[in-house]
Amino acid sequence: MEPTVSKISIKKQIRKNQILRFFRENPLLSPSDIASETQLTLPMASSLTKELADEGYIVVAEAQNSKVGRPATLYQLNPEGGYTLGITLGARKSRMILLNLREEELDFIEYSTVDLNDTEATINTLSERIDELVSKNSIPKSKILGVGFALSGLVNAKSGKSLTYFKDSPSSLKDLLEERLGIEVALENNVNAVTLGELYFGKAKSCENVACIHLDWGIGMGLILNNELYGGHSGLAGEVGHIRVVEDGDICSCGKIGCLETVASGRGLVNKAVRLLQKDHPSILKKKLGNNLESLTLDQLLDAVKSGDQFSLELVEEAGKYIGKSIGILINLLNLERVILSGKLSQMGDAILYPIRSAIMRSSLTEMNDDVDIVISDIDERAGCLGATTMISRKVFETVNVEADMYV
Ligand SMILES: [Zn+2]
Repeated sequence: MEPTVSKISIKKQIRKNQILRFFRENPLLSPSDIASETQLTLPMASSLTKELADEGYIVVAEAQNSKVGRPATLYQLNPEGGYTLGITLGARKSRMILLNLREEELDFIEYSTVDLNDTEATINTLSERIDELVSKNSIPKSKILGVGFALSGLVNAKSGKSLTYFKDSPSSLKDLLEERLGIEVALENNVNAVTLGELYFGKAKSCENVACIHLDWGIGMGLILNNELYGGHSGLAGEVGHIRVVEDGDICSCGKIGCLETVASGRGLVNKAVRLLQKDHPSILKKKLGNNLESLTLDQLLDAVKSGDQFSLELVEEAGKYIGKSIGILINLLNLERVILSGKLSQMGDAILYPIRSAIMRSSLTEMNDDVDIVISDIDERAGCLGATTMISRKVFETVNVEADMYV
């Protein structure tokens, strides 16, 4: 039977989430602060504050001194009131982050992914890793509010299905994981998760129109427009890597010719470097690789950039020009206020930033490019995991989905 949730209890839950969200932005609050910010009456604010304290979401903070009159009781989020887990499952690497209710990091681990096409092995490994993390941090599993997963490839966040992996199972990945873990699970595409990470924890905080561009083995982009993640008509928006930037270029993994990914992704750069090295272009990489030029990795190429290898520097500079040209197109179309770059290529500093900036100036209107910041992410490798936790923490801090969440 469907659980009965009355309109009054939904309204109450919305108010409580509003209050908790207010705590997320302001660490110490009294019931009268809450009343004035939420437009609730003081008795109502006091009663809801007490309920939230009874439920363990907030606690009385240390006594505050007051010069005049009776000191107000100040509350704060209870760090032990609940925990969220955020997990990114990449084709090569997986990462897990554990946060408390104040969204402070308790633990972060990284491990090599088992074959994502092997559903059973993936779910077994995940389950073991989560158990290890939870017991290492001495947290009761019942206090985990949920696990947010960020997955590479196509993901239907609503149905909890990956359209790229785990296709051999009739159940959705969300159902499989919930059954095994006994914890609520939410799923999102990895680029969207990185973008949510930037929005709540990184450099997109307090911005309304931002592009988060991930420059790594491939190129991905998440868009925040009017302060919300923008998915487009069918949730596929942001494929900046498949803008055509070279007329007679190489064939791309998508089947088209001359996409940005063919010349500016880690994959494209390594392919081009190998081709040129085989044609005898001078580089310190030749000494390192000997006769095994095809074994070149992206890390080796980027290390060569850092050590000033002219050949590698020029390759990255050329990639920067194409990336900048594509960002210029986005700036003209969307009038962005900030572009956040992440991924291994963004760690090349000025070697890639200068050509990006100069190409943006050439390919976008001055009125708009004057007004946009190009910045490097400061949460980079954690961004996806942090973003994944927000799919769970929204149940506590946000009000838009309260009704749907209460029927789960
Ligand atoms: Zn393409």
